[in-house]
Amino acid sequence: MNNKEKALKAVELLEKEYPEAICSLVYTDPLQLLIATRLAAQCTDKRVNMVTPALFERYKTPEDFSGADISEVEELIKTCGLYKTKARDIVNMCAVLRDEYNSRVPDTIEELIKLPGVGRKTANLVVGDIFGKPAVVVDTHCIRITSRLGFHSTKDAVKIERLLRELLPPEASNDFCHRLVLHGRAVCDARKPKCDICCMSSICSYYTDNNGAT
Ligand code: SF4
Repeated sequence: MNNKEKALKAVELLEKEYPEAICSLVYTDPLQLLIATRLAAQCTDKRVNMVTPALFERYKTPEDFSGADISEVEELIKTCGLYKTKARDIVNMCAVLRDEYNSRVPDTIEELIKLPGVGRKTANLVVGDIFGKPAVVVDTHCIRITSRLGFHSTKDAVKIERLLRELLPPEASNDFCHRLVLHGRAVCDARKPKCDICCMSSICSYYTDNNGAT
């Protein structure tokens, strides 16, 4: 089985295992997803979802955020960690949205990554989940699982994104990445993967290498 066939098989197996491919961050508009994703860096989605209701109640538009008192934003997001940097990025990002994008969230990865604090992971999430475009969100689960499956042996997110764009059907890539997160949390644990109950063990290099299969 070559890598392209293996990728198609992985898409099929994960789809069967996790019919619901949803982002676990709670949001109601593009700006909220952009901000929630920024808050999720080195923090759990669960924690972010505890913080954002009050934040989004207080500030609703790029104008609101860009005019905010940074210390007040810091206070609201304090439990997410790295809160000073995150608060600064959010306020600066909203000022750029207000001044250069007519207060709208852009719909391309190229434009999104120009915003303060927005990297390729966030940009992919937004174009995939909000604008329905092909996206490959490379996070820690994606890096770990695609490496174990045997697609690569790098931690370079840009290289992995490029590789997965070549291997995955564009219309399936966004949901595939959401399902990797679900699988990483439920089964393919970083320290102790539960290979004996994994739906992808038949195509997994890590499993083959650790179970003496031929
Ligand atoms: Fe992860 Fe094991 Fe499944 Fe491979 S077989 S994807 S290492 S849980």
